[in-house]
Amino acid sequence: METEVKLLLSDLETIKDSLVDASHRTSIDRRVIAVHFLLIILMIQERLEKIYGTGKLANAQRSKIKDMSAEVVDSNPYSRLMALQRMGIVANYERIREYSVAIVGIGGVGSVTAEMLTRCGIGRLLLYDYDKVELANMNRLFFHPGQVGMTKTDAAVQTLSDINPDVVLESYTLNITTVSGFETFMSSLKNKSFRPDKEGSGVDLVLSCVDNYEARMVVNQACNELGQTWMESGVSENAVSGHIQLLIPGETACFACAPPLVVASGVDEGTLKREGVCAASLPTTMGVIAGLLVQNTLKYLLKFGKVTPYLGYNALKDFFPSMEMKPNPQCWNGACLERQKEFAVVVRPVRRAEEEVEEETECLHADNEWNISVVDDSQHSNASSCLPEGLVRELPDADEYREPVFGSEATDDLEDLKRQLEALQAE
Ligand SMILES: [Zn+2]
Repeated sequence: METEVKLLLSDLETIKDSLVDASHRTSIDRRVIAVHFLLIILMIQERLEKIYGTGKLANAQRSKIKDMSAEVVDSNPYSRLMALQRMGIVANYERIREYSVAIVGIGGVGSVTAEMLTRCGIGRLLLYDYDKVELANMNRLFFHPGQVGMTKTDAAVQTLSDINPDVVLESYTLNITTVSGFETFMSSLKNKSFRPDKEGSGVDLVLSCVDNYEARMVVNQACNELGQTWMESGVSENAVSGHIQLLIPGETACFACAPPLVVASGVDEGTLKREGVCAASLPTTMGVIAGLLVQNTLKYLLKFGKVTPYLGYNALKDFFPSMEMKPNPQCWNGACLERQKEFAVVVRPVRRAEEEVEEETECLHADNEWNISVVDDSQHSNASSCLPEGLVRELPDADEYREPVFGSEATDDLEDLKRQLEALQAE
Protein backbone atom coordinates (compact mmCIF):
# COMPACT_ATOMS: atom_id res chain seq x y z
CA MET A 1 0.00 0.00 0.00
CA GLU A 2 2.69 2.46 1.04
CA THR A 3 4.77 1.75 -2.10
CA GLU A 4 1.76 2.44 -4.34
CA VAL A 5 1.11 5.75 -2.57
CA LYS A 6 4.76 6.74 -2.99
CA LEU A 7 4.60 5.94 -6.75
CA LEU A 8 1.38 7.96 -7.06
CA LEU A 9 2.98 10.91 -5.27
CA SER A 10 5.99 10.67 -7.56
CA ASP A 11 3.69 10.72 -10.68
CA LEU A 12 1.84 13.74 -9.29
CA GLU A 13 5.18 15.47 -8.76
CA THR A 14 6.08 14.90 -12.46
CA ILE A 15 2.69 16.26 -13.68
CA LYS A 16 3.02 19.22 -11.32
CA ASP A 17 6.47 20.09 -12.75
CA SER A 18 5.20 19.96 -16.33
CA LEU A 19 2.19 22.17 -15.41
CA VAL A 20 4.46 24.69 -13.67
CA ASP A 21 6.49 24.78 -16.85
CA ALA A 22 3.33 25.13 -19.06
CA SER A 23 1.89 27.94 -16.89
CA HIS A 24 4.88 30.12 -17.84
CA ARG A 25 4.94 29.38 -21.58
CA THR A 26 1.44 28.97 -23.11
CA SER A 27 -1.35 31.39 -23.90
CA ILE A 28 -3.37 33.08 -21.09
CA ASP A 29 -6.30 30.59 -21.29
CA ARG A 30 -4.02 27.57 -21.20
CA ARG A 31 -2.01 29.18 -18.41
CA VAL A 32 -5.17 29.60 -16.28
CA ILE A 33 -6.10 25.94 -16.87
CA ALA A 34 -2.55 24.83 -16.01
CA VAL A 35 -2.58 26.80 -12.74
CA HIS A 36 -6.02 25.37 -11.91
CA PHE A 37 -4.81 21.77 -12.38
CA LEU A 38 -1.66 22.60 -10.44
CA LEU A 39 -3.74 23.68 -7.43
CA ILE A 40 -5.81 20.47 -7.59
CA ILE A 41 -2.67 18.32 -7.68
CA LEU A 42 -1.16 20.18 -4.71
CA MET A 43 -4.35 19.55 -2.71
CA ILE A 44 -4.33 15.82 -3.60
CA GLN A 45 -0.65 15.56 -2.66
CA GLU A 46 -1.21 17.22 0.70
CA ARG A 47 -4.15 14.96 1.53
CA LEU A 48 -2.27 11.78 0.58
CA GLU A 49 0.73 12.81 2.65
CA LYS A 50 -1.52 13.47 5.63
CA ILE A 51 -3.26 10.09 5.33
CA TYR A 52 -0.23 7.90 4.72
CA GLY A 53 2.57 9.99 6.20
CA THR A 54 4.70 9.38 3.10
CA GLY A 55 5.79 12.99 2.74
CA LYS A 56 8.87 14.68 4.12
CA LEU A 57 8.38 13.05 7.56
CA ALA A 58 8.89 9.56 6.14
CA ASN A 59 12.14 10.66 4.55
CA ALA A 60 13.35 11.74 8.00
CA GLN A 61 13.44 8.10 9.21
CA ARG A 62 16.90 7.19 10.42
CA SER A 63 18.85 4.29 8.99
CA LYS A 64 19.31 1.03 10.91
CA ILE A 65 22.09 0.74 13.49
CA LYS A 66 24.06 -2.52 13.50
CA ASP A 67 25.55 -2.45 17.03
CA MET A 68 24.32 -0.55 20.07
CA SER A 69 26.94 1.97 21.13
CA ALA A 70 27.51 3.61 24.51
CA GLU A 71 29.17 6.62 22.86
CA VAL A 72 27.79 9.84 24.36
CA VAL A 73 26.90 11.86 21.26
CA ASP A 74 23.62 13.60 20.35
CA SER A 75 23.20 11.36 17.28
CA ASN A 76 23.25 8.07 19.24
CA PRO A 77 19.67 6.92 20.10
CA TYR A 78 20.99 4.31 22.55
CA SER A 79 23.49 6.34 24.64
CA ARG A 80 21.07 6.92 27.56
CA LEU A 81 20.01 3.26 27.60
CA MET A 82 23.58 1.93 27.46
CA ALA A 83 24.37 4.25 30.39
CA LEU A 84 22.37 1.81 32.55
CA GLN A 85 25.41 -0.48 32.31
CA ARG A 86 27.82 2.24 33.36
CA MET A 87 25.55 3.03 36.34
CA GLY A 88 25.64 -0.64 37.38
CA ILE A 89 21.90 -1.24 36.95
CA VAL A 90 22.05 -3.66 34.01
CA ALA A 91 24.92 -6.09 33.32
CA ASN A 92 24.48 -6.19 29.52
CA TYR A 93 21.87 -3.85 28.03
CA GLU A 94 22.55 -4.84 24.43
CA ARG A 95 21.04 -8.29 25.11
CA ILE A 96 17.65 -6.58 24.71
CA ARG A 97 18.15 -7.00 20.96
CA GLU A 98 17.96 -10.79 21.31
CA TYR A 99 14.50 -10.73 22.88
CA SER A 100 11.07 -11.15 21.29
CA VAL A 101 7.95 -9.86 23.01
CA ALA A 102 4.38 -10.55 21.87
CA ILE A 103 1.77 -7.89 22.70
CA VAL A 104 -1.85 -9.02 22.52
CA GLY A 105 -4.22 -6.05 22.25
CA ILE A 106 -2.89 -2.77 20.81
CA GLY A 107 -5.29 -0.48 22.69
CA GLY A 108 -4.74 2.12 25.40
CA VAL A 109 -2.20 -0.01 27.31
CA GLY A 110 -0.81 -2.21 24.49
CA SER A 111 0.07 0.62 22.11
CA VAL A 112 1.99 2.56 24.78
CA THR A 113 3.69 -0.66 25.87
CA ALA A 114 4.75 -1.27 22.26
CA GLU A 115 6.11 2.28 21.95
CA MET A 116 8.13 2.03 25.18
CA LEU A 117 9.68 -1.31 24.18
CA THR A 118 10.44 0.07 20.71
CA ARG A 119 12.20 3.10 22.19
CA CYS A 120 14.13 0.75 24.52
CA GLY A 121 15.42 -1.09 21.42
CA ILE A 122 13.70 -4.47 21.91
CA GLY A 123 14.74 -7.03 19.28
CA ARG A 124 11.34 -8.08 17.95
CA LEU A 125 7.72 -7.19 18.64
CA LEU A 126 4.72 -9.28 17.60
CA LEU A 127 1.52 -7.21 17.59
CA TYR A 128 -1.99 -8.74 17.71
CA ASP A 129 -5.28 -6.87 17.31
CA TYR A 130 -8.33 -6.98 15.02
CA ASP A 131 -9.73 -3.53 15.75
CA LYS A 132 -9.46 -0.24 13.83
CA VAL A 133 -8.36 3.17 15.10
CA GLU A 134 -11.37 5.40 15.94
CA LEU A 135 -11.76 9.03 16.95
CA ALA A 136 -13.14 7.70 20.26
CA ASN A 137 -9.59 6.41 21.00
CA MET A 138 -8.08 9.90 20.94
CA ASN A 139 -8.36 10.43 24.72
CA ARG A 140 -5.57 7.86 24.99
CA LEU A 141 -1.91 8.03 24.01
CA PHE A 142 -0.12 6.84 20.84
CA PHE A 143 -2.64 6.91 17.93
CA HIS A 144 -3.44 10.20 16.17
CA PRO A 145 -6.44 11.42 14.14
CA GLY A 146 -4.61 10.89 10.83
CA GLN A 147 -4.70 7.12 11.53
CA VAL A 148 -8.49 6.84 11.97
CA GLY A 149 -9.80 3.93 9.88
CA MET A 150 -6.48 2.08 9.75
CA THR A 151 -6.14 -1.24 11.61
CA LYS A 152 -4.44 -0.70 14.97
CA THR A 153 -1.67 -3.13 13.98
CA ASP A 154 -0.90 -1.30 10.69
CA ALA A 155 -1.03 2.12 12.36
CA ALA A 156 1.26 0.86 15.14
CA VAL A 157 3.80 -0.57 12.66
CA GLN A 158 3.76 2.74 10.76
CA THR A 159 4.58 4.78 13.88
CA LEU A 160 6.95 2.29 15.54
CA SER A 161 9.08 1.70 12.44
CA ASP A 162 9.56 5.48 12.17
CA ILE A 163 10.60 5.74 15.84
CA ASN A 164 13.07 2.84 15.71
CA PRO A 165 13.74 0.96 12.44
CA ASP A 166 16.04 -1.50 14.28
CA VAL A 167 13.05 -3.28 15.87
CA VAL A 168 11.68 -6.23 13.88
CA LEU A 169 7.91 -5.72 13.79
CA GLU A 170 5.36 -8.43 13.02
CA SER A 171 1.75 -7.39 12.63
CA TYR A 172 -1.13 -9.88 13.08
CA THR A 173 -4.53 -8.42 12.29
CA LEU A 174 -6.67 -11.17 13.82
CA ASN A 175 -8.96 -12.11 16.69
CA ILE A 176 -7.23 -14.69 18.90
CA THR A 177 -10.58 -15.88 20.30
CA THR A 178 -11.59 -17.40 16.92
CA VAL A 179 -10.40 -20.89 15.92
CA SER A 180 -8.27 -19.70 12.98
CA GLY A 181 -7.02 -16.70 14.98
CA PHE A 182 -5.90 -18.99 17.83
CA GLU A 183 -4.06 -21.29 15.40
CA THR A 184 -2.15 -18.39 13.84
CA PHE A 185 -1.46 -17.00 17.33
CA MET A 186 0.04 -20.33 18.46
CA SER A 187 2.14 -20.88 15.32
CA SER A 188 3.49 -17.30 15.45
CA LEU A 189 4.55 -17.81 19.10
CA LYS A 190 6.29 -21.09 18.19
CA ASN A 191 8.16 -19.61 15.19
CA LYS A 192 11.88 -19.50 15.98
CA SER A 193 13.21 -17.89 12.80
CA PHE A 194 14.33 -14.77 14.75
CA ARG A 195 16.54 -16.80 17.14
CA PRO A 196 16.75 -20.49 16.09
CA ASP A 197 18.90 -21.52 19.11
CA LYS A 198 16.32 -20.27 21.65
CA GLU A 199 14.89 -22.88 24.04
CA GLY A 200 11.12 -23.25 24.41
CA SER A 201 8.89 -21.10 22.20
CA GLY A 202 10.00 -18.41 19.75
CA VAL A 203 9.18 -15.52 22.11
CA ASP A 204 10.62 -14.56 25.50
CA LEU A 205 7.49 -13.03 26.93
CA VAL A 206 3.82 -12.55 26.07
CA LEU A 207 2.11 -9.37 27.32
CA SER A 208 -1.66 -9.43 27.56
CA CYS A 209 -3.14 -5.95 27.10
CA VAL A 210 -6.68 -7.03 26.20
CA ASP A 211 -9.87 -5.65 27.73
CA ASN A 212 -11.98 -8.77 28.29
CA TYR A 213 -11.94 -12.03 30.22
CA GLU A 214 -12.46 -14.27 27.17
CA ALA A 215 -9.32 -13.03 25.41
CA ARG A 216 -7.32 -13.32 28.68
CA MET A 217 -8.40 -16.95 28.99
CA VAL A 218 -7.20 -17.58 25.41
CA VAL A 219 -3.77 -16.07 26.17
CA ASN A 220 -3.75 -18.16 29.39
CA GLN A 221 -4.54 -21.33 27.42
CA ALA A 222 -1.85 -20.68 24.80
CA CYS A 223 0.79 -19.89 27.44
CA ASN A 224 -0.12 -22.91 29.60
CA GLU A 225 0.16 -25.19 26.56
CA LEU A 226 3.55 -23.73 25.55
CA GLY A 227 4.89 -23.34 29.12
CA GLN A 228 5.32 -19.68 28.17
CA THR A 229 5.87 -17.01 30.83
CA TRP A 230 3.51 -14.06 30.36
CA MET A 231 2.31 -10.90 32.03
CA GLU A 232 -1.27 -9.80 32.45
CA SER A 233 -2.41 -6.18 32.62
CA GLY A 234 -5.74 -4.51 33.10
CA VAL A 235 -7.44 -1.20 33.78
CA SER A 236 -10.85 -1.01 35.46
CA GLU A 237 -13.99 0.19 33.60
CA ASN A 238 -14.16 3.31 35.79
CA ALA A 239 -10.56 4.17 34.76
CA VAL A 240 -9.20 4.69 38.29
CA SER A 241 -7.51 1.37 39.06
CA GLY A 242 -5.44 -1.28 37.32
CA HIS A 243 -2.94 -4.08 37.82
CA ILE A 244 -0.11 -6.09 36.33
CA GLN A 245 0.59 -9.76 37.06
CA LEU A 246 3.41 -12.20 36.26
CA LEU A 247 2.28 -15.71 35.28
CA ILE A 248 4.79 -18.57 35.06
CA PRO A 249 2.94 -21.79 34.11
CA GLY A 250 3.25 -24.37 36.92
CA GLU A 251 5.02 -21.98 39.30
CA THR A 252 2.49 -19.20 39.89
CA ALA A 253 -1.31 -19.13 39.68
CA CYS A 254 -2.58 -19.18 36.09
CA PHE A 255 -5.52 -17.00 35.07
CA ALA A 256 -7.91 -19.94 35.53
CA CYS A 257 -6.50 -20.85 39.01
CA ALA A 258 -8.02 -17.73 40.55
CA PRO A 259 -10.62 -16.22 38.20
CA PRO A 260 -12.20 -12.87 39.03
CA LEU A 261 -15.02 -13.32 41.58
CA VAL A 262 -17.76 -12.25 39.16
CA VAL A 263 -16.67 -14.85 36.59
CA ALA A 264 -16.13 -17.55 39.24
CA SER A 265 -19.77 -17.09 40.28
CA GLY A 266 -20.83 -18.24 36.82
CA VAL A 267 -21.97 -14.89 35.42
CA ASP A 268 -21.71 -14.60 31.61
CA GLU A 269 -19.27 -11.80 30.82
CA GLY A 270 -21.40 -10.66 27.87
CA THR A 271 -24.25 -9.76 30.21
CA LEU A 272 -21.99 -7.54 32.31
CA LYS A 273 -21.81 -4.92 29.58
CA ARG A 274 -24.80 -2.66 30.07
CA GLU A 275 -26.46 -1.29 26.96
CA GLY A 276 -25.61 2.34 26.35
CA VAL A 277 -23.07 2.44 29.17
CA CYS A 278 -19.65 3.36 27.86
CA ALA A 279 -16.56 2.26 29.83
CA ALA A 280 -14.42 5.18 30.97
CA SER A 281 -10.71 5.46 30.17
CA LEU A 282 -7.96 7.87 31.14
CA PRO A 283 -4.59 8.27 29.40
CA THR A 284 -3.04 8.71 32.86
CA THR A 285 -4.13 5.36 34.36
CA MET A 286 -3.37 3.53 31.10
CA GLY A 287 0.04 5.21 30.92
CA VAL A 288 0.82 4.22 34.54
CA ILE A 289 -0.18 0.58 33.93
CA ALA A 290 1.79 0.44 30.64
CA GLY A 291 4.80 1.94 32.48
CA LEU A 292 4.59 -0.65 35.28
CA LEU A 293 4.18 -3.44 32.72
CA VAL A 294 7.21 -2.43 30.66
CA GLN A 295 9.29 -1.81 33.81
CA ASN A 296 8.54 -5.37 34.95
CA THR A 297 9.28 -6.64 31.42
CA LEU A 298 12.69 -4.93 31.35
CA LYS A 299 13.54 -6.29 34.81
CA TYR A 300 12.49 -9.78 33.75
CA LEU A 301 14.40 -9.76 30.44
CA LEU A 302 17.55 -7.91 31.53
CA LYS A 303 17.63 -9.52 34.99
CA PHE A 304 17.79 -6.57 37.36
CA GLY A 305 15.79 -5.63 40.46
CA LYS A 306 12.78 -7.63 41.65
CA VAL A 307 10.27 -8.84 39.09
CA THR A 308 6.92 -8.20 40.76
CA PRO A 309 4.46 -11.13 40.85
CA TYR A 310 1.40 -8.85 41.17
CA LEU A 311 1.11 -5.11 41.52
CA GLY A 312 -2.18 -3.26 41.81
CA TYR A 313 -2.78 0.47 41.39
CA ASN A 314 -5.59 2.41 43.04
CA ALA A 315 -5.53 5.91 41.55
CA LEU A 316 -7.97 7.40 44.09
CA LYS A 317 -5.81 6.50 47.09
CA ASP A 318 -2.41 6.17 45.37
CA PHE A 319 -2.28 2.67 46.81
CA PHE A 320 -0.07 -0.04 45.24
CA PRO A 321 -0.91 -3.47 46.74
CA SER A 322 1.44 -6.35 45.94
CA MET A 323 1.06 -10.10 46.52
CA GLU A 324 2.02 -13.56 45.31
CA MET A 325 -0.37 -16.28 44.16
CA LYS A 326 0.48 -19.98 44.20
CA PRO A 327 -1.10 -22.26 41.54
CA ASN A 328 -4.35 -23.98 42.43
CA PRO A 329 -3.91 -27.81 42.57
CA GLN A 330 -7.62 -28.05 41.64
CA CYS A 331 -7.38 -25.70 38.63
CA TRP A 332 -9.81 -26.76 35.90
CA ASN A 333 -7.23 -25.97 33.18
CA GLY A 334 -5.58 -29.31 32.23
CA ALA A 335 -2.46 -27.68 30.77
CA CYS A 336 -1.98 -25.74 34.04
CA LEU A 337 -2.06 -29.01 36.06
CA GLU A 338 0.51 -30.59 33.70
CA ARG A 339 2.84 -27.58 34.15
CA GLN A 340 2.34 -27.79 37.96
CA LYS A 341 3.45 -31.46 37.92
CA GLU A 342 6.51 -30.64 35.79
CA PHE A 343 7.43 -27.80 38.15
CA ALA A 344 7.17 -30.08 41.22
CA VAL A 345 9.30 -32.82 39.64
CA VAL A 346 11.87 -30.86 37.61
CA VAL A 347 12.20 -27.24 38.76
CA ARG A 348 11.46 -27.30 42.51
CA PRO A 349 14.21 -29.83 43.48
CA VAL A 350 16.80 -27.79 41.53
CA ARG A 351 15.64 -24.57 43.24
CA ARG A 352 15.85 -26.19 46.70
CA ALA A 353 19.38 -27.44 46.00
CA GLU A 354 20.42 -23.94 44.88
CA GLU A 355 18.86 -22.36 47.99
CA GLU A 356 20.68 -24.83 50.26
CA VAL A 357 24.02 -23.97 48.66
CA GLU A 358 23.28 -20.27 49.16
CA GLU A 359 22.34 -20.81 52.82
CA GLU A 360 25.55 -22.75 53.48
CA THR A 361 27.76 -20.05 52.03
CA GLU A 362 25.95 -17.36 54.02
CA CYS A 363 26.18 -19.28 57.36
CA LEU A 364 29.06 -18.17 59.60
CA HIS A 365 29.22 -21.29 61.85
CA ALA A 366 27.92 -24.06 59.61
CA ASP A 367 30.09 -26.70 61.26
CA ASN A 368 28.24 -26.86 64.61
CA GLU A 369 26.09 -29.85 65.52
CA TRP A 370 22.79 -27.91 65.51
CA ASN A 371 23.44 -25.79 62.37
CA ILE A 372 22.98 -22.65 64.44
CA SER A 373 24.26 -19.53 62.69
CA VAL A 374 25.71 -16.67 64.67
CA VAL A 375 25.41 -13.11 63.50
CA ASP A 376 28.65 -11.18 63.16
CA ASP A 377 29.00 -8.70 66.07
CA SER A 378 30.91 -6.20 63.98
CA GLN A 379 27.68 -5.44 62.05
CA HIS A 380 26.20 -3.87 65.19
CA SER A 381 29.20 -1.74 66.05
CA ASN A 382 28.82 -0.04 62.68
CA ALA A 383 25.08 0.57 63.03
CA SER A 384 25.33 4.28 63.85
CA SER A 385 27.60 4.87 60.87
CA CYS A 386 24.71 3.77 58.58
CA LEU A 387 22.92 7.07 59.21
CA PRO A 388 23.13 9.73 56.50
CA GLU A 389 25.74 12.42 57.08
CA GLY A 390 24.65 15.11 59.55
CA LEU A 391 22.06 12.95 61.38
CA VAL A 392 22.55 11.60 64.92
CA ARG A 393 20.44 9.17 66.93
CA GLU A 394 18.33 10.74 69.71
CA LEU A 395 18.37 7.57 71.80
CA PRO A 396 21.24 5.11 72.20
CA ASP A 397 21.29 2.05 70.01
CA ALA A 398 20.27 -1.17 71.82
CA ASP A 399 23.83 -2.41 71.60
CA GLU A 400 25.26 0.84 72.99
CA TYR A 401 22.98 0.80 76.07
CA ARG A 402 24.78 -0.11 79.25
CA GLU A 403 23.16 -1.34 82.50
CA PRO A 404 23.51 1.24 85.28
CA VAL A 405 26.16 0.25 87.82
CA PHE A 406 24.98 0.08 91.43
CA GLY A 407 27.72 0.00 94.03
CA SER A 408 30.18 2.25 95.84
CA GLU A 409 29.75 5.13 93.37
CA ALA A 410 25.97 5.23 94.04
CA THR A 411 26.55 5.30 97.80
CA ASP A 412 29.07 8.10 97.40
CA ASP A 413 26.53 10.16 95.50
CA LEU A 414 23.96 9.69 98.28
CA GLU A 415 26.43 10.67 100.96
CA ASP A 416 27.34 13.71 98.91
CA LEU A 417 23.67 14.73 98.65
CA LYS A 418 23.22 14.30 102.42
CA ARG A 419 26.19 16.57 103.07
CA GLN A 420 24.78 19.19 100.69
CA LEU A 421 21.38 19.04 102.47
CA GLU A 422 22.97 19.42 105.92
CA ALA A 423 25.00 22.36 104.70
CA LEU A 424 21.88 24.08 103.39
CA GLN A 425 19.98 23.53 106.68
CA ALA A 426 22.92 24.94 108.65
CA GLU A 427 22.85 28.25 106.77
ZN1 LIG B 1 -4.34 -22.81 36.72
